[in-house]
Amino acid sequence: MPQKHANNRSLFWPRGKVLGGSSSLNRMIYMRGHASDYDGWAAQGCTGWGWDDVRPLFLRSEDHLTGANALHATGGPLPVSPITNPHPTAQAFVDTAVAAGHKRNEDFNGDDVRGVGFNEMTVRDGRRESGWQSFVAPVLDNSNLTVTTGALIDRVLLENGRAVGVEYVVDGARPEPAPWWSCPVARPVRPPSCCAAVSARRRTCATSASTWSPICLAWGRTCTTTR
Ligand SMILES: Cc1cc2nc3c(=O)[nH]c(=O)nc-3n(C[C@H](O)[C@H](O)[C@H](O)COP(=O)(O)OP(=O)(O)OC[C@H]3O[C@@H](n4cnc5c(N)ncnc54)[C@H](O)[C@@H]3O)c2cc1C
Repeated sequence: MPQKHANNRSLFWPRGKVLGGSSSLNRMIYMRGHASDYDGWAAQGCTGWGWDDVRPLFLRSEDHLTGANALHATGGPLPVSPITNPHPTAQAFVDTAVAAGHKRNEDFNGDDVRGVGFNEMTVRDGRRESGWQSFVAPVLDNSNLTVTTGALIDRVLLENGRAVGVEYVVDGARPEPAPWWSCPVARPVRPPSCCAAVSARRRTCATSASTWSPICLAWGRTCTTTR
């Protein structure tokens, strides 16, 4: 659809409809962004998003494959590898830019994100590592985790303006909810219109990315869950 605020262009926007989401098909560039971006969001009211808030979380997530230093950490679930064997054309491009006077940047996760160089990648042993592989696959055996594939969430359930669960469809049908006591964390419920749904005991987290999360939230509806 032509976008008014993009000069009426229709934009191609690929997304990963797969375990791991778009991290299963993206370019694997590991670039955290500049501290001032996070501090700017915090200053505008995003409490908890300042650089000092998120930096420890980045470091806790990271397993930098050449070792820890002031900017990087090891031991986390997400592998981060430098590009050690760049394509000769890419190397020539960087060398030429440096020869032309541009700053060589050895690490785009440092204080200065300007310059030319090679970015780091979420790669282990030469292979992509998606969010699914890093963060979910290792804990699949956890008793408080249930993974349902092929499920399309089409509504967020709201109670007094607060998200308490979601409704979803699998293979075109709404699965019959299991009794809530069989589900340790997500509690299946039967809202008034008799749709399959899960309600969260503690909190509902929308992670359908920047396009689908707002759509699901727009489809939110009030319900009285049976508890
Ligand atoms: C082609 C491409 C290249 C990119 N390259 C890079 C890069 O090199 N480095 C980088 O850092 N970032 C890159 N990105 C961006 C990065 O991949 C995304 O920012 C990131 O994956 C977003 O994570 P997310 O968890 O918010 O959403 P996603 O990864 O999109 O995950 C959302 C998940 O929710 C599922 N979902 C959506 N709607 C519903 C619904 N209604 N019901 C059930 N499930 C639903 C989707 O199928 C998907 O599995 C790239 C993105 C693309 C598309």
